[in-house]
Parts: sequence; C-alpha cells; structure tokens
Amino acid sequence: MDYEDKRSKLVESLKKRAFLTKPSVIKAMLKVPRHKFLPKGAIESAYIDSPLSIGIGQTISAPHMNAMMCELLELTEGEKVLEIGTGSGYHAALCAELVAPDYSKNPGHVYTIERHKELADKAEESLINTGYGDIVTVICGDGTLGYPQEAPFHKILVTASSPKKVPPPLKKQLKNGGILCIPAGSKEWGQDLYIISKKENKFDSKRVTGVRFVPLIGEWGFPE
Ligand code: SAH
Repeated sequence: MDYEDKRSKLVESLKKRAFLTKPSVIKAMLKVPRHKFLPKGAIESAYIDSPLSIGIGQTISAPHMNAMMCELLELTEGEKVLEIGTGSGYHAALCAELVAPDYSKNPGHVYTIERHKELADKAEESLINTGYGDIVTVICGDGTLGYPQEAPFHKILVTASSPKKVPPPLKKQLKNGGILCIPAGSKEWGQDLYIISKKENKFDSKRVTGVRFVPLIGEWGFPE
C-alpha cells in the first residue's frame, strides 16, 4: 500500500469514529502528506492514529487530535491563524490547506511559533518541500507572548498544554468573533481541551474533552 492509500484509510477510520465530519477538513487531511513531516524512523507509522516522537522530547499529536482541533476552530478561507507549538509543521500545513486552499485567490496565512530552533528549522524545511512555504511563516520564540506584529488573528491554536490560566497575550491578540483552541491544566496530568470564543471583548470558554499534550514552556506557560 502506498502512502496515499494509507492516508485514505486513516481518514476513513477518523470519519467512522466521528472525528472528521467537515468536508473541508476531510479534504485537507487527505491532501497533506503527514509522512513528509516526520523524522526518518517514524515515517512508516505516519498513518497510524497515534502521537509520534519528533525529537527533543516533543511529539506530533495523533491525527484524530489534529482533525478535532481543525474542526473546532471552524477554519475558513482567507483567515489569519496563529499556531503555538510548530513541532513538525504538520498541523500548520493542515491549517494552511483550510485557510488558503487556492493561495492565488484567497491569501489566508498561518503564523506558527516554536521555541526549539532545531524543530523550527526542520518544520520550515518540510513546509517548503511540501509547497506551503508561502502560506506558513515559522517563527522561533516564546509563543506564550503571541505574535503582536500580526495581531489580531481570526483563530489561534495552541498545541502544547498551558497552565489553567490561559496566556493573556493570546486572548488579547484574538479578533472579536475569533476562536482560541487550547489544552490547559497541570504540567504532567489532567489536561482539558478548551474552545474559547471572543465577542465584544468578552470570552466564553467551553471544555471539550480530556487530553494529554507536552507542556507549554514560557513566560505565560510552565517554567522549564
Ligand atoms: N503542532 C505540532 C505538534 C506540537 S508538539 C505538529 O503538528 O507537529 C508541541 C510543541 O510546542 C513542541 O515542539 C514544543 O517545543 C513547543 N512549545 C512548547 N512551549 C512553547 C512555547 N512557549 N512557544 C513555542 N513553542 C512551544
């Protein structure tokens, strides 16, 4: 079976398990080659629904988590997105497919921040190699501070677990009418995924499900 067949099978199973329902997200998951974002040793496991190690103690989330976060964020064409925790760059590529499926017509953009330079460089290389170089900007730094230069953002996703108090810069840099998707809780155990919507500078937070992510480390995150 080649990678494309394996990817279709994975997408079918995520649909059956109701993690994937939106046609736009299904299309993006079918298109983005997850195996091209992984270190050599993990490539053969690319289309198993499991988190995988990407080095420096970090992990790429399981595909069902990518699917779930993309669906919850209701990403649409033309939006400006901020991702905290680039990791492999795979989730940023999925977001790029959703906000700029036809870049020439609708230039949505994804800004993604990674604190480890080695991962940021590798992710940038993978994004360029897979054709997302113009749609995704990779920044090396502390994502808990957000990215004020390009704020406000229609959508913000955090792919590392925050302390219970959500970093205030991220709430500030979210557009009114925007959505923030963030796991929050304790550093090691007991985290929950939240969807926070902002309307007229007021926030409405909903818990979605229990999750487990690597910690968000930084000024408004956990200490190292
Ligand atoms: N979204 C990624 C997986 C993220 S794993 C993917 O698709 O592969 C979480 C990442 O968040 C790790 O790479 C970790 O180094 C990074 N991280 C943790 N705290 C951070 C911070 N304050 N700013 C930016 N990146 C951070």
